[in-house]
Amino acid sequence: MENEHVSLEGEQVRMLMSCPMCGTDHLVILTLDQYQRFLDSRIKGMYIQTALPDVDPATRELLITGICPACFSIL
Ligand SMILES: [Zn+2]
Repeated sequence: MENEHVSLEGEQVRMLMSCPMCGTDHLVILTLDQYQRFLDSRIKGMYIQTALPDVDPATRELLITGICPACFSIL
């Protein structure tokens, strides 16, 4: 994903995702642990719901597709 900007603030990882449909920026905040599991799931091809069961589904959707909840609801 080229449209993501990741910054580390203490124990938080902030990812700015641009929605490909509406162009709105959305901030996703993960813990370092969650972010590590997210990267792992990408490398291993794991399902994100398996890797991040403690992250809500709308946020997981943002992580996978970058599509924001508002656009996702009209798909
Ligand atoms: Zn959107």
